[in-house]
Amino acid sequence: MSEGENRESLENLLREERRFAPPAEVTANANVKADAYERAAADRLGFWAEQARRLSWETEPTEVLDWSNPPFAKWFQDGRLNVAYNCVDRHVEAGNGDRVAIHFEGEPGDTRTITYAELQKEVCKAANALTALGVSAGDRVAVYMPMIPETVIAMLACARIGAPHSVVFGGFSADALTSRIQDADARVVITADGGNRRGKPNALKPVVDEAATRVPSVEKVLVVRRTGQEVAWNDDRDVWWHEALADQPDTHTPQAFDAEHPLYILYTSGTTGKPKGILHTSGGYLTQASWTHHAVFDLKPETDVYWCTADVGWVTGHSYIVYGPLANGATQVMYEGTPDTPHKGRFWEIVQKYGVTILYAAPTAIRTFMKWGDDIPKQFDLSSLRILGSVGEPINPEAWIWYREAIGGGKAPIVDTWWQTETGAIMISPLPGVTTTKPGSAQRALPGISATVVDDQGHEVGNGQGGYLALTEPWPSMLRTIWGDDQRFIDTYWSRFEGKYFAGDGAKKDDDGDIWLLGRVDDVMLVSGHNISTTEVESALVSHPAVAEAAVVGAKDETTGQSIAAFVILRGSVDESGDLLSELRDHVGKTLGPIAKPKQVMAVTELPKTRSGKIMRRLLRDIAEGREVGDVTTLADASVMDLIKARSQK
Ligand code: ATP
Ligand code: MG
Repeated sequence: MSEGENRESLENLLREERRFAPPAEVTANANVKADAYERAAADRLGFWAEQARRLSWETEPTEVLDWSNPPFAKWFQDGRLNVAYNCVDRHVEAGNGDRVAIHFEGEPGDTRTITYAELQKEVCKAANALTALGVSAGDRVAVYMPMIPETVIAMLACARIGAPHSVVFGGFSADALTSRIQDADARVVITADGGNRRGKPNALKPVVDEAATRVPSVEKVLVVRRTGQEVAWNDDRDVWWHEALADQPDTHTPQAFDAEHPLYILYTSGTTGKPKGILHTSGGYLTQASWTHHAVFDLKPETDVYWCTADVGWVTGHSYIVYGPLANGATQVMYEGTPDTPHKGRFWEIVQKYGVTILYAAPTAIRTFMKWGDDIPKQFDLSSLRILGSVGEPINPEAWIWYREAIGGGKAPIVDTWWQTETGAIMISPLPGVTTTKPGSAQRALPGISATVVDDQGHEVGNGQGGYLALTEPWPSMLRTIWGDDQRFIDTYWSRFEGKYFAGDGAKKDDDGDIWLLGRVDDVMLVSGHNISTTEVESALVSHPAVAEAAVVGAKDETTGQSIAAFVILRGSVDESGDLLSELRDHVGKTLGPIAKPKQVMAVTELPKTRSGKIMRRLLRDIAEGREVGDVTTLADASVMDLIKARSQK
């Protein structure tokens, strides 16, 4: 490789030497063993054909993949199945109707236990109600809901009748909801009066009312009563969910749809720009969601209690609350509220109460718990936990170690799962019974998945080098297109590197060839001709005992092109004197080398995050460069930027 080509690749700075072998008992009983990698490498399509047999097909597929018109893939295309039947009815038919599907825990402390047999009845009634409202196969239905069982029931009812759902996160504004309803041309919206958040009812219906006024094509709004708060009512349009379902039979014959029938549209988080309507279809998606949930979480449906803390409004909720776990007949916990209501031990209280064995959470939550301190989880019995998952952002090694020690009792394996809305299911992750884990690394593509790191010319880099994450073969749960915009699908993902999927994330390979995610390509910093990863500098900062969270950005600099500006949240009682801030700069210099030393370090009390908890670095770049702050509409709390601005002007 010439020097010019090499210039743009990421520097490889962070060294993390800690290793954790899988516990012997997990290895001995693991659902997926080491041989899966070899089997899949020898016959990738055969491997996926085998995984498709996890599902119940009305017509078994004979063809695995049609890749004759890339990048438009068709998986299992002559197969026919009903996704909701696979997630509910077949478990009842297999004699597991009494198994709990959902242990629901409301924020105010109300609870509901729903078995698979009960879930089947509810989904049937909802499917009948939607049909009675005029929804038929192919029609899009928008879902704008709190975290309650009706959300899952609504999604499954849509899937059952072949009406693709478009779930919009219940914290989004009327603008965001309006544009998503319009983009998908949804005629029916399912919502609730509100949900409970931070000890108060949080109204949802007014947001839908506003959106429906702006989009006159919305014909019906189905409203779940959750909080009992006052709602405005439009008799021509609004229908109570409980009334619509009350008259309906609790049986419904599921019709089979083509494997490539659209299952849902989901808009990306909007961390970097305008959200894209990602389209997922049925057979390939469910195959990979189900298999990865079985493999990565080692789920034993008879004994495990699984809990994914994501919101159903994100892809993690779609694949790992709804489709993966239910296809596998899992028993899971669903929690409505925030982790600090009514107290900061709420999550651990829930783990103890239900004996949760598998927990799947996001680094942003883990860093918050770390900031709150070990004393809180220590008050609860967390010994049931046997597998811990992480998703959403790179997890800093120190947060990983804290998760393992304070939550996992120093023994539960951690699976750091890399994937995207676009990939539909987990792509890169350790396997809990196989992989010797490394804090901060997602490590290796799953069996049947082909991922690598390439330089800016699209050539694979060697071990010890950095570049861009690319996926080199199609996979069953891949997005099929961007809704209504095939050209944007091609341009965004398939044009950067010939024949490969461009994920938009920086990555490196370590000396063993394991993959480390280094943050988004848009966030990579260029300092004196060196490409430096935000993740590595942030992880170095978080490895200092005074730092709980960090975000770094590259700010324009006359001499070095860009210089590194760091924003840090200090742990509880630390004094933020000038000495400490310069000590932090030196700490980064020592850990990663002088090139990575931040020029400025600023102590802040909050960081700007998207509603799914990801740091939005572009806003910090605006601050560091002294500009007006850009579009904050996907920010969880816009006032955070005022706090940071005020500090930066001090
Ligand atoms: P947008 O694409 O609209 O900017 P987004 O990328 O945040 O939003 P998602 O699809 O929810 O939307 O997130 C996928 C991204 O999250 C990945 O591309 C990656 O940047 C990050 N990510 C997810 N899991 C991991 C992980 N385990 N390690 C590192 N990064 C991760
Ligand atoms: Mg993205």
